[in-house]
Amino acid sequence: MTILSAKDVDFPITVSVAIVGAGACGLTAALAAGDAGAGVLIVERDPMPAGSTALSSGLIPAAGTRFQSALRIDDTAALMADDIQAKARGDADPDIVDCVAREAGPSLEWLADRHGLEWVVLDDFLYPGHSRHRMHAVPEKTGSALIGRLLGAAQAAGIDILSNAQVVALYADETNGQIAGLRIERPKGETEDIGCEAVILACNGYGGDPEMVRAHIPEMAEADYFGHTGNQGDAVKWGMALGAAAQHLSACQGHGSVATPHGILITWALMMEGGIQVNLEGNRFSNEHQGYSEQAVDVLKQPSGTVWNIFDARLHELGLSFDDYRNAEKQGAVRSAQSLQELSRITGLPLEALKASVRETADEKTDRFGRDFSKTSALASPYYAVKVTGALFHTQGGLCIDRNARVLRENTTPMPNLFAGGGAACGVSGPRIDGYLSGNGLLTAVTLGRIAGQKAAELVSQN
Ligand SMILES: Cc1cc2nc3c(=O)[nH]c(=O)nc-3n(C[C@H](O)[C@H](O)[C@H](O)COP(=O)(O)OP(=O)(O)OC[C@H]3O[C@@H](n4cnc5c(N)ncnc54)[C@H](O)[C@@H]3O)c2cc1C
Repeated sequence: MTILSAKDVDFPITVSVAIVGAGACGLTAALAAGDAGAGVLIVERDPMPAGSTALSSGLIPAAGTRFQSALRIDDTAALMADDIQAKARGDADPDIVDCVAREAGPSLEWLADRHGLEWVVLDDFLYPGHSRHRMHAVPEKTGSALIGRLLGAAQAAGIDILSNAQVVALYADETNGQIAGLRIERPKGETEDIGCEAVILACNGYGGDPEMVRAHIPEMAEADYFGHTGNQGDAVKWGMALGAAAQHLSACQGHGSVATPHGILITWALMMEGGIQVNLEGNRFSNEHQGYSEQAVDVLKQPSGTVWNIFDARLHELGLSFDDYRNAEKQGAVRSAQSLQELSRITGLPLEALKASVRETADEKTDRFGRDFSKTSALASPYYAVKVTGALFHTQGGLCIDRNARVLRENTTPMPNLFAGGGAACGVSGPRIDGYLSGNGLLTAVTLGRIAGQKAAELVSQN
């Protein structure tokens, strides 16, 4: 990824706000900048915008929304910020945590009121680390529906999206880092230049660059990457070349429950509501309630990097409320048995160890891993099992920004006209894989996307 000198470059066309990437962050930023009156162009490398957003479960945490109030859920931005910091062990930037926790609710309400998105709140179980039911989703409860609805809103708002256009370089003023334009490359290798007054980097993180993953998150180097392969760290590479600060590059969202070899996410709700994971020796190996992100590392450490999710008919019913789970069942990933003997035969798990592991779910005391089974029912026949592995979903480190989503230099002063949000910016998970609280990904995509759009529009109108 290159920085080119903007000196004496004459751009054939110029837009006010150029946005790199058409995932949740880029589309939200475009809607906000458009609402504020700016001319906007989104530049997207793929023929059809999708990004990791389309691959995600589409769950966005937000506190104090009217959608929660309708269900009598009492929640505040302060509680949400506490939950984020508790998971990050206090290592996330407090200013950005406060900002996204405050802005998430108003952002979802704005998307509803101004752009017609509908939200439902998932109130049947709590995701690990959340003290309130605050996961919002579009009614279909999928990431593909979320991106579909955002694209519909962008089309209705008249936002221009240039697809099949990979941004390969930024044109910058060498003296002050002001971005003057973008160079894009078309699929057959032709290049075009576009001038702009402000740039929003919404091209996510570096999960699609194996070298960056190996360098910064070595424990996930061998994990399958489940995010969008086109996200190859361009924001961090450009930013750092321009003298911007980047931080927490060791952080990511992993997931410890991806059906193998099917490659389908098996909802963590099964674990939260009473399911367990056992390794190929039939033994539990961790507290499944700590979080699905860090569980990816524990799963990958087990023999052959695969384990079995063990649950029962009650949890199978819960699983069926998720698209992915139904798909996994169709693909033959979900196995069932009337007894543990039969389950042992189907899975190849040693019977005595399997029996002992299932017995642990009936224990009222906090177990040796620190899990408390007293609030969930013990597993009972008929039993279900899915073979799973650990995967990398997306990276959480990125460019340092301020509350206005402006990219910061190493000396903490803002770059003149460069903004970042979503996976392009440093997230709110701190530096470790266990710092990821469910929903931190789309949280920063939507809130920082909106802020970046508003502030970029403000900047160009002042100029
Ligand atoms: C399986 C899975 C499940 C997940 N579930 C959840 C969930 O339920 N809740 C949650 O909060 N998070 C979830 N996440 C994480 C979430 O998907 C991401 O945090 C979020 O989508 C990031 O949004 P974004 O707009 O920053 O990036 P993306 O949606 O990835 O969009 C980035 C876009 O930039 C484009 N791009 C990249 N480089 C260039 C370039 N040089 N030029 C032009 N275009 C470029 C890409 O093609 C892409 O379209 C999940 C992730 C995965 C993989």
